[in-house]
Amino acid sequence: MATERTLSIIKPDATKRNLTGKINAKFEEAGLRIVAQKRIHLSKEQVGVFYAVHKERPFYDELCEFMASAPVVVQVLEGEGAISKNREVMGATNPADAAEGTIRAEFAESVGENSVHGSDAPETAAEEISYFFAGLELVG
Ligand code: ADP
Ligand code: MG
Repeated sequence: MATERTLSIIKPDATKRNLTGKINAKFEEAGLRIVAQKRIHLSKEQVGVFYAVHKERPFYDELCEFMASAPVVVQVLEGEGAISKNREVMGATNPADAAEGTIRAEFAESVGENSVHGSDAPETAAEEISYFFAGLELVG
């Protein structure tokens, strides 16, 4: 499998509970390398653009409010098959369905406040990375 990069976000529920280090340890233990990382506080408008694909979903407004409610940590993870590997480490969207040992099983509070975001395909990974990072900021 090829080396890939994926966009990860540690969400407000997790940054508020001081879980950035514990979540990063899960990535690193899985062989994912954090090649870029920054803590930012998004506006509701900036979140709205990022999650535009969910605009018609009933939870869109709640999701934008939540993601703008406190700082997030945006990061680029690199590794073999990083996109699917990260989705495995994250666990299912709803923590009630997430496999044991995954980030969402251990840390998520609800289906909405579920601690992490991860890109779902090569095209979205490239788009999402470029939304937050310039090429020069990615340091493998
Ligand atoms: P994932 O983050 O696992 O890729 P989706 O792309 O389907 O999941 O949804 C994006 C985000 O929207 C989720 O991570 C979660 O924060 C929120 N979300 C999804 N489904 C619901 C729901 N039924 N109720 C509230 N929030 C939701
Ligand atoms: Mg998604």
